[in-house]
Amino acid sequence: MTCIVYSHPDCAGHVTPPGHPERVERLAAVERGLAGLGVERRDCPLGDEADVLRCHPAGYLARVKGAVPKEGWAQLDGDTYLAPGSFDAAMRAVGGICAAVDAVVSGVAQTAFVAGRPPGHHAERETAMGFCLFGTVAIGAKRALEHHGLTRVAIVDFDVHHGNGTQDLLWDEGRCLFVSSHQMPLYPGTGRPEERGAHGQILNLPLRSGSGGRAMREVYEGVVFPALADWKPELLLISAGFDAHADDPLAGLEWQAEDYRWLTDRLCDFAGGRVVSTLEGGYDLDALAASVAAHVGAMQETGG
Ligand SMILES: [Zn+2]
Repeated sequence: MTCIVYSHPDCAGHVTPPGHPERVERLAAVERGLAGLGVERRDCPLGDEADVLRCHPAGYLARVKGAVPKEGWAQLDGDTYLAPGSFDAAMRAVGGICAAVDAVVSGVAQTAFVAGRPPGHHAERETAMGFCLFGTVAIGAKRALEHHGLTRVAIVDFDVHHGNGTQDLLWDEGRCLFVSSHQMPLYPGTGRPEERGAHGQILNLPLRSGSGGRAMREVYEGVVFPALADWKPELLLISAGFDAHADDPLAGLEWQAEDYRWLTDRLCDFAGGRVVSTLEGGYDLDALAASVAAHVGAMQETGG
C-alpha cells in the first residue's frame, strides 16, 4: 500500500494580503517537496458540512460563509483573512482530511497527507484565528470516531505553535489523545502542561526557543512515544506544521528537515502505521519543501 496525497486547486483560492506569511506560494513549495516521492495523488473532495458541524456550531459555519467577500478581503481577527475563494479552500481541506481518514481506516491506503490550506489547528469552536477557519485535524478525528466507530484515536501536533483550536474542540473528547509540542512562550500563549483536558487526555509539551532537534527527540522519546504506546490508537493523525524549522521566520525551535524525517518515521510505528497527516504551518518556502519531502518520504516508506 502506498501513501496517498490529497490536494486541490481550490486551496490556492485562499489568497491572503501581500506580505502575509500564510500565502498561496506555500502550495508550490509543498509540490516541490513531493516531487519524485512516487506518492499516489487524489483531489480533495469538497467537505461535507456535517463533518464541520461535529466540531463547530451551525451559527459559526454560517458566520464564516456569510463573511466571505465578493472581492478583496474580509478580516476575521488580527491575522486571519477571508478572500472570495477562502471558504471553498477551507472546505477542500476538510474534505481532504475526511477522505484521507476514510482511505486509511478502510485500508485503501496505509498513510495519507493532506496538502491543503488554510491550516486549521488554531480555529476554536466559534473563533477563527491564527490563519485558521475550521479545525481540520479535529474534524478528521471526529470523522474516525463518529463515522467509522473507532474508539481510540490520537493526534500529534508538532507545529511550532500550540494547537489551541484542536485542544478546544477536543477538550471533552475522551476517545482522542491530543499531544502538542510547541515553542513557549509564543503565539497563541496557551499550551501549558497543566492544560490536560476533561479526561486527562491532552498532553502539552512546551519547548524552549533555540532548543533544537535534540530537545525535541528527548521529549518525544521520554514522554510522547510512551503515551502513544499506552494509548494504543487505532489511527494516528498528525498536525504537520513545519515552522519549527531553523529557517522559519515566525519561530526559533531550530529543527532541521532530518528531524521531521526522524519524528515521522517513529510516529509511523504507532497505530499499525495507519497515519493521516495534514499541513499546518511552515513559512520559509525552501525549508517547507525540504521538510515536506522528509515527512511524506518517511510516510511513503511506511506504506511501501
Ligand atoms: Zn505554526
